[in-house]
Amino acid sequence: MAKSETVETSLNEKIKEFLLDEGAIKVGFATKESVAGGPPSTDFDYLFKSAGIDAEANSAISFALPLDKEAIRLFIAKKDREAHQEDNRRTLAKSVYLSHKLASILQAEGYAAIGSAANLKYREEIHQWNRFLPPDISHRYIAVAAGVGSFGWSGNVGINGYGAAIILGTTVTSARLEPTAPLPDHESFCEWKKSDGQVKCKICADSCIAEMFEKNDAEYVSIGARTYSYAKRRNTRRCEFGCGGFTGLHPSGKWSTWSPARFKLPDDPKKLNKEYIRAIRQHIERPPMPNAAEVPNVAGLKLATTCGMCQLVCFGDKKENAKNYKLLTKSGCAVQEPDGTIVILSPEEAEKKLQQMPEEHTALYS
Ligand code: SF4
Ligand code: SF4
Repeated sequence: MAKSETVETSLNEKIKEFLLDEGAIKVGFATKESVAGGPPSTDFDYLFKSAGIDAEANSAISFALPLDKEAIRLFIAKKDREAHQEDNRRTLAKSVYLSHKLASILQAEGYAAIGSAANLKYREEIHQWNRFLPPDISHRYIAVAAGVGSFGWSGNVGINGYGAAIILGTTVTSARLEPTAPLPDHESFCEWKKSDGQVKCKICADSCIAEMFEKNDAEYVSIGARTYSYAKRRNTRRCEFGCGGFTGLHPSGKWSTWSPARFKLPDDPKKLNKEYIRAIRQHIERPPMPNAAEVPNVAGLKLATTCGMCQLVCFGDKKENAKNYKLLTKSGCAVQEPDGTIVILSPEEAEKKLQQMPEEHTALYS
């Protein structure tokens, strides 16, 4: 009998031990049954096929790595951008490394296996892929199906005790592993979900300068035997605008992300797209952000970490989340000097500074 035809429970333990030893905080296993009926990005076989691996992908291993909460707090409070950016990059790189290292361990055991990219890897054969950015595999969906974490109101995946301050990784294999069950709602890290809506948190939605999330309207995704809900996205372009750093000022004008840009985001999708293109052009014209990424994104832009607030504010604890939200909304506004330096000022000082700077410079930010 070929190796992939038997359920390998001892292999589950071996994989778990390896990942926990390497610093993972949670490990889970999904089979095709765990993700049956899920969105296309839950299809494990896609990774094998696109790598030319001629075997059936029977299981996926999902794992989570923790982010540094102290660095996150400094980032949210706009006291220090670099520490979280570095931690985020390092943890993403570690998730990729571990997913491939695990694949090589499985290959040595005689199975087909492949690691995966942490992000920026899309299904480019899909029409308008660069508009909708369909991932080659969804770490979030696989993690939820495997019980590694659960969806919060934001749709970010988190774990009790860590909140959404985690990075996920995935390895796909021909081995038939024993699946682990999705988490029940009462084990959710999300205050709102855990209390069945009794705890009115939704700080994640309030922390988005792009106002991407509906506060009272959900969208649904079915994966395996369960249907999950999280906040309806108004238009994912809004996140691309904010997360990409193409704008940063909250509509209240009282605080910003680390992005110094100050665009108003129209509701109308066509107008929003037009503004987005204008914002990208201005971004290219601006002085580069200090320590921007070395690897360009799909649009060829080297972006700096300026947002992610919907994820970062959620430590999965009502008091901690409230503290994070206060730090964020009192953190002031980012302004960029003509030499590229970012300064953080009160909303009033920021306005004044913009009025004092050369018009050809300030014209690049709104
Ligand atoms: S911020 Fe609150 S509502 Fe949002 S995911 Fe976290 S606990 Fe849930
Ligand atoms: S990453 Fe930023 S812009 Fe995107 S949804 Fe989260 S808070 Fe909003």
